[in-house]
Amino acid sequence: MALTGLEIYKQLPKKNCGECGVPTCLAFAMALASGKAALDTCPYVTAAAKEALDSASAPPIKAIKFGKDSVLGDENVLFRHDKTFYHPTTLLIRVSDKLSDAEIEAKVKEIDSLEFDRVGLHYAIDGVAVVNESGDAARFEKAAGIVAAGTDKSLLLISSDPAALKAALAPLAARKPLIGEATAENYEAIVNIAKENSVPVILKAEGLDALNDLVEKAQTLGYKEFVLDPGSRTPVETLANLTHLRRLAIKKKFRPFGYPVIAYSSHSEPLDEIMEASVYVSKYASAVVLNTSTKAHLLPLMTLRQNLYTDPQKPIQVEPKLHTVGDVNENSPFYVTTNFSLTYYSVEGEVEATKIPSYILPIDTDGTSVLTAYAAGKFEPDKIAQAMEASGIGDKVKHRNIIIPGYVAVVSGKLAELTGWKVIVGPRESSGIISFAKSQLM
Ligand code: SF4
Repeated sequence: MALTGLEIYKQLPKKNCGECGVPTCLAFAMALASGKAALDTCPYVTAAAKEALDSASAPPIKAIKFGKDSVLGDENVLFRHDKTFYHPTTLLIRVSDKLSDAEIEAKVKEIDSLEFDRVGLHYAIDGVAVVNESGDAARFEKAAGIVAAGTDKSLLLISSDPAALKAALAPLAARKPLIGEATAENYEAIVNIAKENSVPVILKAEGLDALNDLVEKAQTLGYKEFVLDPGSRTPVETLANLTHLRRLAIKKKFRPFGYPVIAYSSHSEPLDEIMEASVYVSKYASAVVLNTSTKAHLLPLMTLRQNLYTDPQKPIQVEPKLHTVGDVNENSPFYVTTNFSLTYYSVEGEVEATKIPSYILPIDTDGTSVLTAYAAGKFEPDKIAQAMEASGIGDKVKHRNIIIPGYVAVVSGKLAELTGWKVIVGPRESSGIISFAKSQLM
């Protein structure tokens, strides 16, 4: 169990020097106990105390790395508004070794192409889960090899047969796949395979009590690179298990459950599957294994993931520089907006739809939308004038017209005075840009 603040305090140097960022050792101990501080910020902790405090200072959910760049876990809160979520749920697509070689190649090619650009961010499916459904070790090894040859995405190798896993893993160990599944029956063999190859391993048991037993037994093998699978395969049970596991890890600091968790979709109908997976991405799967590999179905899931794992305190921003839409020339219209990603890309999309090559200058408003920026004094005429000057727009167009968002019509007079340009008040919403362009610019 986690140490209390007073137990931690007993191990601290009691200098009350404040170098850790809080005024006293007692305050630091309390912050450490609640997971709001890191032990290494105190430079005076002795080696003996460090060892004793390691469990208190470790993150409540261990970070587990595998594959290309997948990181699972290392989360510190239950709700995003408490702080932020750090490691977006890893999404993997299931490939059965019952498929033919050609079918596997085609499936991997399809998975590899699942990449999207949205609001200036690029996201993709993270990996492929090769499942030993054939029950044949040689077939599993071959299927894993075909998948690995077809993609550099992260790999998950799933078999309950230690010999099959060992054979499939041997040529792929350098790719650091996640492997599974270690159960009460085979955990010694499979955890040892993982340990020998320094790859993480899934521990699977039916229900939380059995999972607790399995984790404690597996830990005695001297290895702790685990991902947990509570065994449930229905949405209701899985959601309940994922929620209990996260609460016990974060709130109770229950160390056996301080590992990332994997979930598997149970539906074969893609829309049902995406709804199910959306629940797991929201609460609280570190990785989800899916069946569907259809772009149209996966895009909403990845958008949800991106929304949940965006730090609400750091809005997504675009670079506050002069952007071009189309093949601009000296007559191209010149729009001004803010650098909040959603605002900018809404404007850009509508400007593109006008089919008039244009310049857009997003002003640096710390990623806030137009009205918020104006209310916070971040979309003021002098700031816009300075940004225009720095962008060099005056040398790129021969007209002297600025189109500003309709919501900030009030800045028109001052902006015209500061720049000497004619200020045209555009529509309030980006959706009005096409009709605005038709009536004012064509
Ligand atoms: Fe105490 Fe260490 Fe913080 Fe100084 S830096 S106040 S010794 S915990």
